[in-house]
Amino acid sequence: MAEDKKMADVAVSAAQPKLQTATGVHDILPDDHEYFTFIKKVVRHRARQAGYRRIATPIFEYFDVFQRGIGDTTDIIQKEMYTFDDRGGRLLALKPEATAGICRAYIEHSMRLWPQPVELYCIEPHFRYDRPQKGRYRQFWQYDFEIIGETDPALDVQMIHLNQKILGDLGIAHLFDLQINSIGCKVCRIDFINALKDYYAGKERGLCFDCKTRLEKNPLRLLDCKEEDCRTIASFAPKFSDLLCAECKTFDANVKEYLTELGIPYTINSQLVRGLDYYTKTVFEWWDKSFGAQNAIGGGGRYDGLIEIMGGEPTPAVGFAVGMERVVMHMKNAGIRVPKKDDIHVFVAQLGDTAKKKCLKLISDLREQGVKTVGALGKGSMKAQLRLADKFHVQHTLILGATEVRDGTIILRNMAKGSQKIIPFAEAVPAVIEALGEEQLDKYTPGEVLY
Ligand code: AMP
Repeated sequence: MAEDKKMADVAVSAAQPKLQTATGVHDILPDDHEYFTFIKKVVRHRARQAGYRRIATPIFEYFDVFQRGIGDTTDIIQKEMYTFDDRGGRLLALKPEATAGICRAYIEHSMRLWPQPVELYCIEPHFRYDRPQKGRYRQFWQYDFEIIGETDPALDVQMIHLNQKILGDLGIAHLFDLQINSIGCKVCRIDFINALKDYYAGKERGLCFDCKTRLEKNPLRLLDCKEEDCRTIASFAPKFSDLLCAECKTFDANVKEYLTELGIPYTINSQLVRGLDYYTKTVFEWWDKSFGAQNAIGGGGRYDGLIEIMGGEPTPAVGFAVGMERVVMHMKNAGIRVPKKDDIHVFVAQLGDTAKKKCLKLISDLREQGVKTVGALGKGSMKAQLRLADKFHVQHTLILGATEVRDGTIILRNMAKGSQKIIPFAEAVPAVIEALGEEQLDKYTPGEVLY
């Protein structure tokens, strides 16, 4: 019978494909989570210091939110959206970036009535139907900061400074080069696009397929094409800095002055335009010093026209986002280790029904006191349980066998030293705490609840 069932199981597993993650997405396993937890801690700390409050917009929104927010002609909207119809036939999309949803929320919740500017941050997964490769996934995490409701070059610079601080806390700031540019406002942008079209007239044959379309639909993107031939042509194209209106010029000069004031080095990059339609004036990216744009860790810019485009009052804003998988990759490559909060302090091994019952309570008491405890409450032999304790790399093991139950004692074993002592069962918890030291205990108080 058992043999028949086994055969049937084998047949089923042969017929069905192995279940695995979908293309381009990945599990974040516990070892990587330690990095994610650390990054979130740093981000939240820096956000609190600077008065940002956390927001989470839904994972999916009506497609229009992104279409209007990000722009029809962008790669994200044209090629990278995860869209689907719900059962009511409404077109929805998984969020590919944070800004559009946050602006929708700003309008929907009348945040213009809050004290301005509204400073928000989020730590969220995003979704893009990108071609998967190292550092480029279809679901990825970003931390994102936005200041909405005020315009001043000092805000752009404070935002850049904030991320410099975060990257510094993470130990990787030195790996990146801040690239900046100004792409003007809706007034001078028109002159620039005309100049660009004039420059490219007659050069169409030298462009890649995508750039030929960009020439019609989104000429700014001609400047940051990664194809060799297109890059050569782009390097001689008109520069924004020569065509900015007086207001944008002063704004840009102030940004650079304030960056210098805060001691932030930067590289002026006249080809930096960012992929999204909504930017105005300042745009910036942090490029990997060894790999350049391909491996930017994050970027952002000012988007003074977006809230109006999305149906709100004219409202200036600035923001940036950083990819967290890429942060983790850089931290690991740089050999940066983060605190391992998951280490187990104590393993509880037991034998026999009475011992098992006593250990249930003991494990709970240890955990309540902040001792990170695991116990093998299955039916394994004492030898097997001690082998398991070794695998958890615990500092101490408590052992409760039939003899100890009878005597009202328990064995406390120091795993590193290989020494052990017999102590009264009632003293197990204080003895463990003394052996570990109070400072090692994992105590957490969520804070007092207010009624
Ligand atoms: P973007 O707004 O597109 O410049 O994205 C900001 C940052 O998010 C990038 O610099 C990357 O670090 C990260 N990012 C963007 N797209 C992806 C992706 N498909 N996979 C992983 N990280 C990404």
